Amino acid sequence: MRYTQNELIALTFDDGPSDTTTDQVLDILARHDVVGTFFLIGDNITDERLPVIRRTLSLGCEIENHAKTHSDMRTLTRGQIISEIEYTTARITEVTGRAPEFFRPPYIYCNDTMFDAIDLTFICGHGCEDWEADTTVQHRAEKTIAQAEDGAVVLLHDFEGNEKTAEALETIIPALRDRGFEFVTVSELFRRKGVDLAKQRGILFSDTSQARI
Ligand SMILES: [Zn+2]
Repeated sequence: MRYTQNELIALTFDDGPSDTTTDQVLDILARHDVVGTFFLIGDNITDERLPVIRRTLSLGCEIENHAKTHSDMRTLTRGQIISEIEYTTARITEVTGRAPEFFRPPYIYCNDTMFDAIDLTFICGHGCEDWEADTTVQHRAEKTIAQAEDGAVVLLHDFEGNEKTAEALETIIPALRDRGFEFVTVSELFRRKGVDLAKQRGILFSDTSQARI
C-alpha cells in the first residue's frame, strides 16, 4: 500500500542520557537518517554526558523532560513535583538552549496533582516491554511494528545496557518506512497534526488522535 501523504510517527527514548546505549541508538538513527525524541532524567545530565547530548541535537533529535529523580511522582507533594520538573527543565534549557514542551511521567504514573502542577504536555506512547532485560529483540521489533499508526508515539528506552532496543531499531525503522511512515520528533508530530498544546491539559498522549480540538 502506498500513501500520497506520509503517515507520521515519533520514536521516543526514555531514561538517558546513558554512557554507551544512547550512542548506539544515535548511530542507528543517523545511519537511517531518522530523528527521535529523548526524554532525559535530570540527574543523568552530567558534564561527562554533554557530548552525547550535543550529538543528539546535532542529528536533529529533540530533548524533553522525564523528571529529575525518576520517582513515583504520585507519592510526592505538589512542591516536590514542581521542583523535579523545574530542575530538569532548567538543566535541559541550559545545555540545549531550548525549553522542553513535553513530559513523560516516570513509570507512566500520573495523578491530578501532577496534571495540575506540570505545565507540559504529558506523553506516554506504545511500548514493547523493552524496559525488561529478558524481552527479546524480536518481540521489541514485532510489537512496535504491529502497534504503529499515524500520529503515534513509540515508547522505547536508552538506559545503559539496553542495546537490544538499539538492535530492534534495525528492523523497526526499515519496516515502518516501507509502510509509508515518516519519522518526526514529538513536537513536529503535534505541530503537523495541528494540535494546540495549550488545550491539552489532563491528557496522557499515546497518539495525537486524543487531542482536544
Ligand atoms: Zn523512565
